[in-house]
Amino acid sequence: MSGYAGIGSRLAKVKESLPQNVRLVAVSKFHPVEALESAYAAGQRTFGESHEQELSKKQAVLPKDIDWHFIGHLQTNKVKYIAPYISMIDAVDSLKLLKEINKQAAKHDRVIKVLLELHIAEEATKYGFTPDGLRQMLDEGEWRQLKNVEICGLMAMATNTDDEIRIRKDFNLAASLFDEIKSKYFADADSFCERSWGMSGDYKVAVECRSTMVRIGTAIFGEREY
Ligand SMILES: *Cc1c(COP(=O)(O)O)cnc(C)c1O
Repeated sequence: MSGYAGIGSRLAKVKESLPQNVRLVAVSKFHPVEALESAYAAGQRTFGESHEQELSKKQAVLPKDIDWHFIGHLQTNKVKYIAPYISMIDAVDSLKLLKEINKQAAKHDRVIKVLLELHIAEEATKYGFTPDGLRQMLDEGEWRQLKNVEICGLMAMATNTDDEIRIRKDFNLAASLFDEIKSKYFADADSFCERSWGMSGDYKVAVECRSTMVRIGTAIFGEREY
């Protein structure tokens, strides 16, 4: 018997709880190919992975109509391996990484969609631009020359806590930064429209704080075994 029987129904439950305009990235990191196949059979086409080698192995054997999102910290030397097929890189946290994605995308004659990652959570270890770091990078303007990346919005994680007030504060800050960045740098770019926040433990709050794209793993696939 397969241990993956519950995936389809959990996926359906999560989808039912999301408003129409919120997209679901099913975070399948550390889960075997069979788990992704169950979600695929239930209609899911967008998956998120956070390790290049694991992603490349899965991408090679799974159907080609899957949209793969790279959701973790991506080292610049790994970009070349995913550039041929990745749909979106969700956590761009430096200009250096953005430039490397642009370079590798150009080699494959592609435009790769990206999100800029904000660092708003309280933990010191998380990656991402601080609000000032992001404003500075965008003010300096070099990104405007990068024709093979499309900046589609912002990504953020809330502080890892049970304190809903704190989580809400983090997401509301991300939402207000989105409005600021949109009006200052992307007012004419319809493609800058994504607010990617919300994971298994906090996606309902995230949706209330104007998320357009949630990244959900555990609530669909169960606990990860690292
Ligand atoms: C693992 C991960 C998720 C999913 O977390 P769950 O709690 O399992 O839903 C979402 N976003 C990022 C960036 C992750 O690394």
